[in-house]
Amino acid sequence: MEPLRLFPRTPTTTGGPGRPDGKRYCIWTIGCQMNEAESAKVEAMLNQVGFARTETEDDADVIVLNSCVVRQAAEDKVVGKIGSLQRIKRNNPDVRIALTGCMVTGQEARLRERFPHVDLFFAPSEFDRLVEIVPELAEADADLAELPHYYQPVATHPGVTAYVPIIYGCNFVCSYCIVPYRRGREVSRPFDEIVAEVERLAAQGVQEVTLLGQTVNAYGHDLPDGRDLADLLAAIDAIDGIKRLRFLTSHPKYFSDKLIHAIADLPSLCEHVNLPVQAGDNEVLRRMRRTYTVEHYRERIDYIRRTIPNVTLATDIIVGFPGETDEQFENTAKLLNDIEFDKVHVAMYSPRPGTLSARWEDDIPHSVKHARHQAVERIQERVSAERLRARLGETLEVLVDGQQRGRWRGRTRGNTLVFFDAAGDWLGQLVDVRITEAMTWYLLGEPVAVTHQQRLAPV
Ligand code: SF4
Repeated sequence: MEPLRLFPRTPTTTGGPGRPDGKRYCIWTIGCQMNEAESAKVEAMLNQVGFARTETEDDADVIVLNSCVVRQAAEDKVVGKIGSLQRIKRNNPDVRIALTGCMVTGQEARLRERFPHVDLFFAPSEFDRLVEIVPELAEADADLAELPHYYQPVATHPGVTAYVPIIYGCNFVCSYCIVPYRRGREVSRPFDEIVAEVERLAAQGVQEVTLLGQTVNAYGHDLPDGRDLADLLAAIDAIDGIKRLRFLTSHPKYFSDKLIHAIADLPSLCEHVNLPVQAGDNEVLRRMRRTYTVEHYRERIDYIRRTIPNVTLATDIIVGFPGETDEQFENTAKLLNDIEFDKVHVAMYSPRPGTLSARWEDDIPHSVKHARHQAVERIQERVSAERLRARLGETLEVLVDGQQRGRWRGRTRGNTLVFFDAAGDWLGQLVDVRITEAMTWYLLGEPVAVTHQQRLAPV
């Protein structure tokens, strides 16, 4: 997977109405948006058979952990989490514990030995196996049993935004990445199935949809009719009610002119491009097996900026890749200073067993990795603050997706976080916000007009 932003998952729904026997489930998720989407699928299945969600593992009858092993830090957190459930299992042997996500694929036997208190290990696409610990799923109505995987609409902020996986797996073999080994080769979902799913989401009042894939812009390469991501975006843009459309995460090799023009032309498609570069040095890119050069990447960014007015840009960087010299890192720093991304996700390299680069010496000392990480953050702090300061006094359209520390929170089309104070319920509203203050990573403002009232409907 391209960018791995580790985040504790915020609850996506409030859970089902509850069973007469009061059964409850708890889901813990770490990793990328694809994991979030898959956890929401599990959540929807359990809601449908009447389980209620709890945030407290001690209260749960079923605990599902959705794991990530793309970085060592994520894997350590998962292992810590599994370990902490030993106490719960000891106190309540009836609790059923399942582990899914990237840690599981091909590792079941090893994991069963290592974590005997876990009842079920299932690979990311094997939702049906949940029935082994939740027999109620077998009794569910035919609709549930026949749901294709990922059918269930996935609301990230109930009734406002949703994730829709459109392609699974990855055909690239970046030398540091475990994803192809755990998620398999690319499989695109049928075009019409995705369009129908988004139509259902729109009918429920969802206004913003993010299409997901490990390499989302490879969408359609394996489909017979030649339709690609740009065609899919055009079809979804035409759906009444979808105000905003995004997609994650792209590979620079497939970021075509056609896709760039789709962003410029389709009204709902947001002017925000997340294009991981990973390194700004050709030799490092070659050893990463990224299949493009810095020159290609810069050319794509130039074309994007020339074609899409007011576009915002995000990227991902890995520092301390095996053999990365000071000079090679300086090339990455130069790229960041030249392009001035709106957002940079930076991670220190950690070897993932089973990948090509794990066979090479992890020869960059932690202190050097840390210093490079700090250097990237310093660059980005400066750039981000400058870019946000330039928005002072502008009026930006914000889709309000929740509250944080007593203030309303939303995002601009460019994916910038905006907060404002206002009485009343603003959830799900598209609001014009006048920007009054620029912080390093976000903006503050005051609402001046509501541009679209959400059609509230149950999700
Ligand atoms: S192999 Fe490369 S392109 Fe594929 S998910 Fe991993 S980092 Fe992304």
